[in-house]
Amino acid sequence: MTLVKTKILLIYTGGTIGMVKDYDSGVLKAFDFTELLKSIPELYQLECAIDTMTFDTPIDSSDMHPRDWVKIASIIEEHYDSYDGFVVLHGSDTMSYTASALSFLLENLDKPVILTGSQLPIGDLRTDAKENLITSIQIASLRVNSKPAVREVGLYFEYKLYRGNRTTKINAEHFQAFASLNYPHLVESGVYLNIYEEYLWPKKRVKKLIVHKQMDENVAILKLFPGISLKVLESVLCIKGLKALVLETYGSGNAPTDKKFLNLLKKAIDNGIHIINVTQCSGGSVIMGQYETSTALKKMQVINGKDITTEAAITKLMYMLGSEVSAKLFKTVFETSLRGEMN
Ligand code: ASP
Repeated sequence: MTLVKTKILLIYTGGTIGMVKDYDSGVLKAFDFTELLKSIPELYQLECAIDTMTFDTPIDSSDMHPRDWVKIASIIEEHYDSYDGFVVLHGSDTMSYTASALSFLLENLDKPVILTGSQLPIGDLRTDAKENLITSIQIASLRVNSKPAVREVGLYFEYKLYRGNRTTKINAEHFQAFASLNYPHLVESGVYLNIYEEYLWPKKRVKKLIVHKQMDENVAILKLFPGISLKVLESVLCIKGLKALVLETYGSGNAPTDKKFLNLLKKAIDNGIHIINVTQCSGGSVIMGQYETSTALKKMQVINGKDITTEAAITKLMYMLGSEVSAKLFKTVFETSLRGEMN
């Protein structure tokens, strides 16, 4: 009997994991990742066949753009039938945005797409890259009854696999750089790989993968702070072509009760701009109407972001606007969980 190895496609987009330090300037720069992989003999011990692909010009994730998300989604589409799973190596800075965006772009995903990266380059003596890379590949190859164990976009970092669109980067220097405060992690790596099946995206009737390719960037995020001037809100809402705004509010979705402030929001909604109420707290949910400071927002039909992250909210907006969801349905669709991004 011949053992069929699972096939994994490793896509390197850039980020610290594949960077090397420039001796003269001391600055971290992207390097030839395929070359770097040759120095990780551990990869050859894995029971899967790994092919690699890299972006022509690997980038620091601060340079990620929606067109890059579409590029990653298109690579996955092109190779979907030839591989059992995909591991996307990505800078950690905007990894949660990419993970969220991919979850929306890849409709009916039935295979694992695992994003990972590292805080230290793979060549560094104390690197966290090897564990992140090796375990991500193992998770992408996991099969139960010869079917993929994970069938969603996940983010693996420092011993935990999270649902990608639930994550936020919370630390710029700890190896534990990500958190998913409103949803439990899906897999934990210790001596064994513990899979928490009850939290995984459930197996549904297999439908054909649909890869969306339009993201509309006419969106903005505004974080409230005590003393925010009307001029700030007004200027944002007057941006030419603006279609939607993620308003990061306080606590459970609260905002100033100042009439002029509320009138500006109301006028924008009347003019067809979608306003999403997302809490600036890292965990917990928006509950409009719980306090007096959110009842006016509820009344004027501000969209309830519930417990969505800002990263998932902004990418969901780009995706929904790109998919031309009608103005009539927009609120209902946004308030519905499409890929497990909200409760
Ligand atoms: N600046 C890097 C990036 O996001 C940081 C990292 O890779 O962790 O590309």
